[in-house]
Amino acid sequence: MSERTEIAYDSKVEGEVIVTRADAVINWIRKHSVWPMPMGLACCAIELMAAGGSRFDISRFGMEVMRFSPRQADCMIVAGTVTYKMAEVVRRIYEQMAEPRWVVAMGACASTGGMYRSYAVLQGVDRIVPVDVYVSGCPPRPEALLDAMIKLQDKIGRESSVKTLIDSNRRPRPEAALVGA
Ligand code: SF4
Repeated sequence: MSERTEIAYDSKVEGEVIVTRADAVINWIRKHSVWPMPMGLACCAIELMAAGGSRFDISRFGMEVMRFSPRQADCMIVAGTVTYKMAEVVRRIYEQMAEPRWVVAMGACASTGGMYRSYAVLQGVDRIVPVDVYVSGCPPRPEALLDAMIKLQDKIGRESSVKTLIDSNRRPRPEAALVGA
């Protein structure tokens, strides 16, 4: 008579095996090592700097490596008023960043032009670059920026890790042309 032996869970074998998707791993790495490009254009940039200080400590989210070279950054944080004079520069720097890249519009000015309804001010940086997260406030507090960066992490986690270089959904609105710049 044969004897039946129940096969038990063997942690020595199964405990060292992790099954996942490539997308999940790549996005997990990406979202915990965002390298911001601090595009400080006006007063909001002071709050952006505060977010990097010890009190708010953006390094808790793996984002303390701020880079002023677009080649070494993957998230542009536009903090401040975007004048037409600077808009062309912002656009050029964005184009110099490698894919995948993201943009955060920090504050009322970067999001909509803010109180500057004037001939000299772009009415929202999303007219020239695609924005992933908008932060309200004039200025937003550092906590609001950190909240936006956490939202960006969530968004990165849901993306396909293999992004096409030319993604039509991420193009700015048609009126983006720097007319009058
Ligand atoms: S939103 Fe307010 S604080 Fe920020 S750049 Fe504009 S005026 Fe300055």
